Parts: sequence; structure tokens; C-alpha cells
Amino acid sequence: MIVACLDLEGVLVPEIWIAVAERTGIEALRRTTRDEPDYDKLMRARLELLDANGLRLPDIQDVIGTLDPLPGAGAFLDWLRSRFQVVILSDTFYGFAAPLMRKLGHPTLFCHDLEVDADGRIRDYRLRMPDQKRASVEAFAALNFRVIAAGDSYNDTTMLTAADRGILFSPPDNVVAEFPQFPVTRTYDELRDAFENAAESLTRA
Ligand SMILES: [Mg+2]
Repeated sequence: MIVACLDLEGVLVPEIWIAVAERTGIEALRRTTRDEPDYDKLMRARLELLDANGLRLPDIQDVIGTLDPLPGAGAFLDWLRSRFQVVILSDTFYGFAAPLMRKLGHPTLFCHDLEVDADGRIRDYRLRMPDQKRASVEAFAALNFRVIAAGDSYNDTTMLTAADRGILFSPPDNVVAEFPQFPVTRTYDELRDAFENAAESLTRA
């Protein structure tokens, strides 16, 4: 029994904050965890920027609603779901992801929550728990599942390490260099092959 754990942004959908920065013209929203390693500081700055620009959750959802999954993502996910139990593990928020999950046929998503006022202002964010990607993989292992995980960036590496098999998809060069133990894939065909190879090696193990 294998659970496939997938990252969301950079694997199935574009980077949401970068897209929001582009569509709203708020350049400072382009900052990511690569520029600011302190996630709490980064998120507070983002929420302040939204507030300062008078953007409420429905405005952001309108922007995100104009985004599409990456080309080929839907077909890849359909294949993956036909082959394994699939859980998407993401550090985004349900309120942001909703329009994109609709376009992907509502796969199972474990992520975080936003605190939103009655008038739609985003007051705060609430991580369900720290390092939930790794904790989820460990919990599936405790339920006697084998886990194959795929992601694109630093915030996936604890998940890939905890999984029985980890796969990188379209990663930046520095992640490839720092984590040479994971196979690197750059197209959905390659990712599909990597999942098949991993599953095969697990059934042999
Ligand atoms: Mg990602």
C-alpha cells in the first residue's frame, strides 16, 4: 500500500505569491522563503502588504482564480490518483488554494488556515502544525503505508527524507546540489517514470 505525497506550488500549480505579485503589481510580494528564511516574518510582511493595499481575501481569490494549474498537471494528477492514494502536502492556505483545487478536481489537500474577518480582511494565519509535511509522512508510515514523495524546494526536503522514496521535480540548482540523494525530474513524464521506479523498488524491497 503506497501513499503518494505531492507538494503543490511549483509541482502542480504556479507559485501563488509570485502570481499575486504579478497580477496586483505589488513587487514586494515577490519575496519568498529563498529571500527570507524566517517564514513567520515573511508571512507577516505579506499580510501587512495586503492590508496596506486594501486587499481582502475575496480580492486575492479573484486573482488566484485567474491562475491555471501548470500545463499537464491535471492529466498527471489523474494518472497518479489511478495508481496510488494521493495526498497533497502544502504550506499554502485553504483560502488561497481553493480556486486551484477546483480546477484539479478537489484532490485531498493538507495545508494551513487563514484567520479572516467577517468583512474578508485577513487578520492572521495559523499553521496547523510545524513541519507538517514530514509529520504527515511519518503518520502514514505509522499507519503501515509506504510513502513516495515529490516536491521542488527546500520546504519539501524533510518530507522527501522521511518518505521511503523521495523525488525532486523541477528543483532549483542549489537544492539539487545539496540533496544529491534524490532523483531529479523535470517533466511529468519523467516524474511518472520516477514514481513507477520507486514503487517497483519498494515492492522488491
Ligand atoms: Mg513547492
